[in-house]
Formats: sequence, C-alpha cells, structure tokens
Amino acid sequence: MSELNLIPQPVSIHYKDGYFQCAECPSANGDTVFKNEIAVFNEQIAALGRLSASALIECRQDTGLAPEAYRLSITPQKIALTAATGTGAYHGLQSLRQLILLGADTGAVSIPCVDIDDAPRFLWRGFMLDTSRYFYSIDFTKKLIDTLSLHHINRFHWHLTDDQGWRLPVKEYPLLTEIGSRKLSVRHQPRDARYIGGFYTEDEIRDLVAYAATRHIEIVPEVDLPGHANAILAAYPGLGCSGGPYRVEDRFGIFEEVLCAGNDDIFDLGDAVFNTLASLFPSKYVHIGGDEVLYNHWQKCPKCQRRLAETSLKSPRELQSWITVQLVQMLAKHGKIAIGWDEVLEDSPQYPLPKEVVVMSWRGTKGGIEASRLGHDVIMTPNSEGCYFDYKYRKDPEEPGQLGVSTIHQVYHMNPVNPDMPADVAARVLGGQANLWSELIYAGKIAEYMIFPRLCALAETVWTPSAAKDFDSFTRRLPAHQQRLERLGVLQYRGPMY
Ligand SMILES: [Zn+2]
Repeated sequence: MSELNLIPQPVSIHYKDGYFQCAECPSANGDTVFKNEIAVFNEQIAALGRLSASALIECRQDTGLAPEAYRLSITPQKIALTAATGTGAYHGLQSLRQLILLGADTGAVSIPCVDIDDAPRFLWRGFMLDTSRYFYSIDFTKKLIDTLSLHHINRFHWHLTDDQGWRLPVKEYPLLTEIGSRKLSVRHQPRDARYIGGFYTEDEIRDLVAYAATRHIEIVPEVDLPGHANAILAAYPGLGCSGGPYRVEDRFGIFEEVLCAGNDDIFDLGDAVFNTLASLFPSKYVHIGGDEVLYNHWQKCPKCQRRLAETSLKSPRELQSWITVQLVQMLAKHGKIAIGWDEVLEDSPQYPLPKEVVVMSWRGTKGGIEASRLGHDVIMTPNSEGCYFDYKYRKDPEEPGQLGVSTIHQVYHMNPVNPDMPADVAARVLGGQANLWSELIYAGKIAEYMIFPRLCALAETVWTPSAAKDFDSFTRRLPAHQQRLERLGVLQYRGPMY
C-alpha cells in the first residue's frame, strides 16, 4: 500500500484495501452549502487535466463536526467528504487536490482507499509577505495564496508599508502613493534591485481579499507605525520631528526617522489609514507594527518633549506606549483588534498595553511567553526557530538569504506552545506564522524558493497535533509533495534540511 504523503499530516489515516481509480480527474459535487468550495476545487482540478463527469467526490454537511474539521472516506467506487462548514470542506478538498496532483501527470488518478479524520491544532496558521522592500504583483500574490491554501494556511499577513515603500492607497493622503510608493521607479533595474515602485489600487485589494476568502484565507493588513516611517515622511515631511528633508529609503536597516510623537496630525493620518483598512479588509485584526522605533529625534524634539511633560511619562521609550494606546483605541472604534510586534510589550505604568492587543513574538519566543502570561493572545513567529524565511536554508555562501539561518528541521520543530506554559496560558497562543522580509528577495521566483518547502514544514507545525508529528515521516513524504508543487510551477529549494 503506497503512502498518501499528505502535508500537513492529518490527525488520523486508516488504510483500507484497494484503490479509487479514474482515467480522468474526479470532480466534486454535493450540498449547496458547499457550492463555493466545490466551484473553486473543480476549477483548480480542471487546470490539471480533464474533469471526469462520472467519477465524483460527494460533499455532505455534518454539523456535528468541529468548524475546521473534515472527514474523507475513499472507497474503490467513490470519495465521500463530510464537514460542518465551508472551511472544513475546503480543507478536505485541498487534501484531495494534493492526492490528485500526484496522479494527474499521467492523466489518470489512483488513490489508496483510506478513511481520514482531520482538524487543525491551531486557529492561526499564518504567513507574512513584505511588499515594501519588494513590490510583488497581484498575480504572484494570488498564486502564493492558492498554494498556501493547499497547506491549510489560513492567514495572509500583508506587510504594506515600510521605509522603502507605501503600497496602500489612502484618499485623504494621496502623496503616500504619489511619492511614498516610488511608483515612477523602474520596476526592475538589473544592476540595482532596490528601486522597486508601485502600489495596489482599491480594486486590486478588494479582488485579492475576495480571492483569498474563496480559499478560506483571511488577509490581515499591516501598516507599520510610528517607526519604519521614511515613506510616510517623504510624502508628508510635517509629520516628522525635524521637518526633513526625507526620502523614501533605498537602503536597508533601522532608521532614526520616525513619526513625531508631539504632533497630533499623526493621529489624523492614523484615522484616515484605519478608515481605509476598515473599508477594504473584513478581518477583525489590523497589524500596527510598533517594531524597531529609535528615539533619537524624540529625545531632542521640543514637541515630543512637551508631550512627555503633558503625559508625565519619564522617557521617549514610554512615549511609544502612549502612541500604541491611542492607535489601539482608534482601531477599537472600527471594531478592530490591534496586533503588534513584541516591542509593544515595552509599555509604561501609565499606559500599559491594552489586554486586547495580540502580540506577535518575533525576537525569539520570550515576548510571546511573557505576553501570554500577561493575558494577551499571542502568535509565535520566532526568528530564532526557523520562522524567518528571508534567512538562508543553511550556512552556505551560495544560498540566497540574509541575517541568519532557518533550516527546515528548525521550523518543523518550532512549538508555538512552550511546554512549561500552564493550560490557561497555552490557550492564549493562537498559533504560529512564518515571515518573508524582502530586502534581498527581488523577484517572485526567489520568494518561492525561500518559502517552499519551509512552508510545508511550518504547515505541519501549526496544523498537525504533536502526537502525529514525526520529522522522519515528513522527510519521507516531502519528495512526493515537492512533485505536487513542481506541477503547480512553484520553484523550490531541494538541499539538506539541517
Ligand atoms: Zn517630535
């Protein structure tokens, strides 16, 4: 009996005798409650080969199952899928898509008869793409989202602003995209890939959000404030402490230029940006960044010093906690919950971090452990444990990547829940995520190479229960899975996993 080689590994697989065989690709039908999922699946499968009119996957609703769970029963005669929700049905159909992808090369499909019971370990199974350092096309992003959904990833964290480019149109602040997006820069200059311009239109964003929703992926936008602000300041110099001149950065690193904490106009900007995000993104979450803020200007700026006196805060660092609280309250008016990088934990007694803020732990797991203990929901994305996909796959001068190494073995073994956490604290860990920062990733194809197959390991980390995880089994299943990805035209790393 051949193995199914599914990734992520399902909770349970029970092998039976025989094979479901079919000369053409099987198509799905079933309960109308799943009509959208069935339509997307049939379209995905039709792209692989001829759809069979007779060989069918029957999708039935069973409201007794958990929201994201699915059940598959494959017999020589037919394939039966049950789920309570469209999300569960979509996950089950993606597992089937994986099985069909392997056979479809020859035009024929042969799947071992099995019963599968499956459901995710974590609610948050995320991936972040930085579109500021490199501006990825909507077509590339759609292909990526579709491939993420093949692995049951359910959040796409879209990093839309940074020092090197502002990609979000905001009606009240047209210069953010006129100047901040470097829209006139040459998209590809062979000798200097840093000059990358462009922004997404409202229509493109709505289209992408809808596309992701049909694949049961929620897009969570990020607008990084008050640091990483060079693109904002180049467009609106009055929002900085010194008044400029500023420029959209074409270098990489952490810069001193940040929004002026003493200028109330920064909250008008925040309000306009949050209004825009609320109108474009249905997600209840908005990521507000909050990372890597340098305080040199706040130390010297008279307006910032006046704000310090008014708020009776002791240091410019504490001033950031005041800004965070304002932004969180503004988002709450839109019914949105703020997510921040773990620097937001560095709060002040007068302005403690509001409990509803979700903390994304990137500088290792320490921040996440502390935040969950303090009562915050937490998403683990530790750069120390393989979650930074801009790092090299291995220490090798010929491998692309920067700053560190994230091996496949590391990301496979990242455990979002620390074994020492009490149950009530562990329950606040929503899940895990990988991030691709794009300073050196100046083409979609390079991005694919950096993402796959590390993403396959991450998927198993955030989906499969610990008891069903096994790295040796993963390495046995991966070659077949990489054939599937190749069939989808995804460029992948194929070297050592340690
Ligand atoms: Zn200032």
